[in-house]
Amino acid sequence: MKKKLTALTLAVAMAATMAGCSGSGSQAETEAAETTAAAETEAADPAAEDESTEAASEEAETEAAAGELKTAQEGKLVMVTNAEFPPYEYHEGDEIVGIDAEIAAAIADKLGLELVIEDIAFDSIIPELVSGKADFAMAGMTVTDERKQSVDFSNTYAKASQKVIVQEGSDITTPDDLTGKIVGVQLGTTGDLYVTDLEAEGTTVERFSKGFEAVQALSQGKVDAVVIDEQPAQVFVSQTEGLVILDDSFTDEEYAAAVKKGNTALLNAINDALAELDEAGELDAIVAKYITAE
Ligand code: GLN
Repeated sequence: MKKKLTALTLAVAMAATMAGCSGSGSQAETEAAETTAAAETEAADPAAEDESTEAASEEAETEAAAGELKTAQEGKLVMVTNAEFPPYEYHEGDEIVGIDAEIAAAIADKLGLELVIEDIAFDSIIPELVSGKADFAMAGMTVTDERKQSVDFSNTYAKASQKVIVQEGSDITTPDDLTGKIVGVQLGTTGDLYVTDLEAEGTTVERFSKGFEAVQALSQGKVDAVVIDEQPAQVFVSQTEGLVILDDSFTDEEYAAAVKKGNTALLNAINDALAELDEAGELDAIVAKYITAE
């Protein structure tokens, strides 16, 4: 019993520190995590808890459902993301923080699983889900029909748009002016997809592996504009002199979590957890931490 308690205490401490971690812990850490995951499952018996509120029983239901979930690594929920996308996911010291990282931690918590975040290239996210190496993705990922061929999306949790960033005083004043220009995008994103459509009209697309690199190229005059999601656009422009965001959006989009196509059990569990977080006001609270209302 003593061993179990110690393991559980450790599990709680680890859950707190692992929430924003990249998951590349040492061998010892990995072993500890595996032991504690087992202890956590045993201790998660809802009957052992005193609380009898409706919220608690709802949570117990979600956890019970999660008990039947088969995940990529036992006791863990492996999320893939590309942590170059503030304020949704970015590095802060050794940690990956941001809106998606926090929502994912809250989902994993509700499912009684330990969240592991893997930071990979944006265009590797869907292959990683399809191969079954990761359980889900949260990456400011826009729901598109093309992606729905390979993955299933959860209910959407954020509205988004593609914006155009230019140098102050640019002759590009609306998205229509991108025709014939050199436009920087992040490889494999919807920005890439939509600007690629303009190639037929003489637009040149420069693809970067990180959004911020595209913005740096713009500030050095190597590209005429950058098309990227609105929230990272605001962060990057605030960090760079002489750039502005055009008022008109290039597209309107919505973000969702993604799972391997056909993984209905996990998809339902994520949707239930998202609904609970939404109802409890936790989603809004997480967003408010990172995005200040204008
Ligand atoms: N929302 C865009 C997409 O889904 C960009 C996401 C990202 O760069 N992380 O393609």
